[in-house]
Amino acid sequence: MVGVLALQGAFREHRRVLESLGVTVREVRLPADLPGLSGLVIPGGESTTMGKLMLDYGLREPIRAFHAAGGAVFGTCAGAILMSGAVRGAPPQFGTQPSLDLMDIVVQRNAFGRQVDSFQGPLVVGGLDAPFPAMFIRAPVIESVGEGVQVLARQGEQVVLAREGRLLASSFHPELTRDARIHQLFLTMLPVTAPTLAG
Ligand code: GLN
Repeated sequence: MVGVLALQGAFREHRRVLESLGVTVREVRLPADLPGLSGLVIPGGESTTMGKLMLDYGLREPIRAFHAAGGAVFGTCAGAILMSGAVRGAPPQFGTQPSLDLMDIVVQRNAFGRQVDSFQGPLVVGGLDAPFPAMFIRAPVIESVGEGVQVLARQGEQVVLAREGRLLASSFHPELTRDARIHQLFLTMLPVTAPTLAG
């Protein structure tokens, strides 16, 4: 079973894609929703808001523990921002940007600037034999990656899809297109059995 963090943002769209692939989906709002899941998707939306709600609902440490125990995590756009170890470009008026500090990446928010802040284009992705129709909406870029991180796609020079073990982060929105190949990639990363969570 795969969970979709359902605090804010495009969680219904992820649910739809996963269900179209035959996956049982549970919406996650509280730590008690995590046991029994093999994977968790953190959707796009607004990362400051989602991060604050994640802290308010006491989800930060349980999600970290879920990953440490063997669960896979896939973050798209704002979800990728929340998975990162460090966030750059957060508007200062919103205070410190909360993040899960799961993946060894530094993310720059809203990195494509105002003029081209949303666009769609074919993206060459490592492991896929045809380009993926990637939709970018006020998207971040992965500005730097640690040693254990595999870069799977670049838009120009910028890293927009990366994997580190059971962690997958995309700048773009694979849940908003009819192409399910990035979700299928995530499904190959799930552990065979759901991790056992303490408490
Ligand atoms: N710009 C948003 C943020 O920084 C992310 C946009 C998205 O998830 N589509 O939180």
